[in-house]
Amino acid sequence: MLQASLIESLSGVVGGDAVLTRAEDLVPYSFDGTAALKTRQAAVVFPQTTTQVSDCVKLAAASGTPIVTRGSGTGLSGGSVPTEGSLVVCLTKMDAILDVDPRNLTLTAQPGAITQRIDEAAGRYGLFYPPDPGSLRISTIGGNVAENSGGLRGLKYGVTRDYVMGLEVVLADGRVARLGNRCVKDVAGYSLKDLFIGSEGTLGIITEVLLKLVPRPAARQTMLALYDRIEDAAETVSAIVAARIIPCTLEFLDRMTAGCVEEYARVGLPTDCEAVLLMETDGHPAAVADEAAQMEAIARAHRARDVRTARDAAEALQLASARRNAFSALARRRPTTILEDVTVPRSELATMVTFIAETASAFNLQIGTFGHMGDGNLHPTFLTDERDADEMARVHRAFDAIVTRTLELGGTITGEHGVGLAKKPWLRRQLGDATFDLMKSVKRAVDPQGVLNPGKVFD
Ligand SMILES: Cc1cc2nc3c(=O)[nH]c(=O)nc-3n(C[C@H](O)[C@H](O)[C@H](O)COP(=O)(O)OP(=O)(O)OC[C@H]3O[C@@H](n4cnc5c(N)ncnc54)[C@H](O)[C@@H]3O)c2cc1C
Repeated sequence: MLQASLIESLSGVVGGDAVLTRAEDLVPYSFDGTAALKTRQAAVVFPQTTTQVSDCVKLAAASGTPIVTRGSGTGLSGGSVPTEGSLVVCLTKMDAILDVDPRNLTLTAQPGAITQRIDEAAGRYGLFYPPDPGSLRISTIGGNVAENSGGLRGLKYGVTRDYVMGLEVVLADGRVARLGNRCVKDVAGYSLKDLFIGSEGTLGIITEVLLKLVPRPAARQTMLALYDRIEDAAETVSAIVAARIIPCTLEFLDRMTAGCVEEYARVGLPTDCEAVLLMETDGHPAAVADEAAQMEAIARAHRARDVRTARDAAEALQLASARRNAFSALARRRPTTILEDVTVPRSELATMVTFIAETASAFNLQIGTFGHMGDGNLHPTFLTDERDADEMARVHRAFDAIVTRTLELGGTITGEHGVGLAKKPWLRRQLGDATFDLMKSVKRAVDPQGVLNPGKVFD
């Protein structure tokens, strides 16, 4: 429980209707998209302006109340799962797209703007905002920046960080800092905006985002290639990259994921193939036609059983939905779905995919794997039941084995979902003592009282 006087002061800042304190109202804010993680916060506030965010932070900091910033709560590492007794600052009411500037190719938005709306707004000017996390219809741009989210187009276009030109941030003491600007080049001092991108709500609250846009590609071609061996799919990816083709999308589904997607979305996938690759190329129509033909030839040369090419935009959407539905489709199989996020150098993909399949058999578990194969980013997804203590113990041991193998192969414990609560136990192992301690000293310098999202990323 927060002190009544604090609740009263917060109500004075945001209005009584924008403060939740009743137990039943707090439940939806006590978890995010991460399975089996829940805690009870003390209150949720919905500010509508930067000044209100700043005033809430000042009030919470003065009483030593932890602050957990929240967007849509789709995070997959527990980043917005509240700390016990914390104040949740939920930014979904700050959702305006403030400006699209076609002369400077920028867009300015409040942090609660939904990712898909950013690209739709850019599209009205013939412009494009490429980062497209699978959650784009619900996630917020503030959450995307705080997690440095990736997406299905990451191979060609990069991740959220590559599009952030500026940020407005409320600091731990309530002061408002502006980082970056519309200039294409700017080396005035440290690049502090980069420190806040991917900081998972532990360094400040992002209250405005200035994004870079690019010209919208004139054409796109979408293909699905089906394989009897995972190694052939992985080798297709390596061969496409070696042929100097950078498709916008090279996504992978294993047999279990393809089977679940077919059950769920009926997109016409065979359920007996070992791997499905979703391949997309975009750009000038002539280049797209040429690259699509080369990619099809490479896939067939690497023993693709079949390559399906979309005949129109509607069919392209249908083929792409096979990948976009992967998580939801897997989540229907068992009561608990634990989605992981390891990334390895692309040369190690086949080794890693095979290791995950062997680990599933060794621990007698169901693991569906899908992911951004062009980026080396895999999502081994445990289909399990958190009420079964024995099975959960095997899940944890299997996951530790997967992380250990990832690190042995030169990979990372998270490619896009962040550390949050879920990946904390492995962070020091990946970074080593010196880098880990450097990160902690940055946190201490920026948030000396430790009020912002305490217990996330590190203890
Ligand atoms: C079906 C599904 C598919 C997904 N696909 C992808 C994918 O393809 N790629 C990918 O990268 N992720 C993916 N995710 C994970 C998730 O959607 C992203 O991490 C997303 O960016 C989180 O946005 P959110 O608004 O839900 O943030 P939340 O979950 O509310 O918060 C995430 C973190 O950001 C912090 N935060 C939120 N807003 C702010 C702010 N304004 N200022 C400071 N900190 C803030 C929170 O404290 C928390 O630590 C997926 C999730 C789901 C459920």
